[in-house]
Amino acid sequence: MTHSPVRHTLERWAAGERIAPLPAREGAAPPAISFEFFPPKTPTLEAQLWSCIERLATLRPAFVSVTYGAGGSTQERTHATVLRIVKETALTPAAHLTCVGATQEDVNDIAARYWEAGVRHIVALRGDMPSGAPYKPHPSGYAFAADLVKGLKKIADFEISVAAYPEVHPQAPNPEADLENLKRKLDAGATRAITQVFFDNAIFLRFMDRALAAGIKAPIVPGILPVTNFNQMKKFAAACGTSVPGWMAGMFEGLDDDVETRRMVAAAVAAEQVRLLQANGIDEFHFYTLNRPDLTYAIARILGVKPEISAA
Ligand SMILES: Cc1cc2nc3c(=O)[nH]c(=O)nc-3n(C[C@H](O)[C@H](O)[C@H](O)COP(=O)(O)OP(=O)(O)OC[C@H]3O[C@@H](n4cnc5c(N)ncnc54)[C@H](O)[C@@H]3O)c2cc1C
Repeated sequence: MTHSPVRHTLERWAAGERIAPLPAREGAAPPAISFEFFPPKTPTLEAQLWSCIERLATLRPAFVSVTYGAGGSTQERTHATVLRIVKETALTPAAHLTCVGATQEDVNDIAARYWEAGVRHIVALRGDMPSGAPYKPHPSGYAFAADLVKGLKKIADFEISVAAYPEVHPQAPNPEADLENLKRKLDAGATRAITQVFFDNAIFLRFMDRALAAGIKAPIVPGILPVTNFNQMKKFAAACGTSVPGWMAGMFEGLDDDVETRRMVAAAVAAEQVRLLQANGIDEFHFYTLNRPDLTYAIARILGVKPEISAA
């Protein structure tokens, strides 16, 4: 009998490579985490947001941010939500603020009101035109986020975060120009960049290399979106230039009507993403919560973040 060159399963298993678990970074401090919320439109959504905030607050995030609707459409609701966070919680709020569709004077007024109310952190953004039209700066507005950062620094000594794009902003002429823009925003006074959603860790880690080579030293915090509604996410990803890996589409395929399995898959995908980033030394994470706490809570726990135990 001739020996088959093809090894059977048990032989392969016995001789094969052993994959160790991802390093759990024993003894290392848990990562710093932050959460993003959007301002609610209705009383029901408001109740949902506040129960989300209460649950996630136990994880003691470094800050929680509240978005500003496209074209500044949620100005009052963003303001009200941020102020309620100041008044009713011990959390550190960060208010998103955009340039689009407003004069510099209006934007400055909003920022000054935030400062007076005790808000010290702004996420400074350009924003997009509400209709999806090509971006046009307001004739007497801040043209780009870097201009807004400069303007905010003249009003008060805000802590400022800005946006970064591992897959390049869709309107940037090229990746180098986009990275130069990020550097301009940081040089103007921002101290942190938060990334657009991404699902391919290699893209993010390569972006970190490029940022470092461009002389950027400020933290670039990965923006993590735990995905439960895959179809909705695909539309959003297409609009903002985020690529969706084929393996991910495969995992969600056929689960449109199976919410429970979709949630389990979503948790596995996001947990794997953050664990791989953590194993690569990333120790800050920003979660796009979509005002839903459960997945984010579980994933933060997986990263080693534990809730505050009340002394009751
Ligand atoms: C973490 C995060 C949070 C966000 N939150 C919100 C939010 O709350 N509300 C909201 O409406 N949107 C939000 N966005 C979306 C954001 O407003 C859009 O992605 C917008 O298209 C770009 O905003 P920016 O601040 O990155 O712009 P910028 O940094 O100003 O860059 C925009 C584009 O212009 C180019 N550019 C910059 N300066 C110049 C120049 N001088 N000349 C020519 N081109 C230039 C850049 O390369 C880039 O392509 C968020 C995005 C992220 C990543």
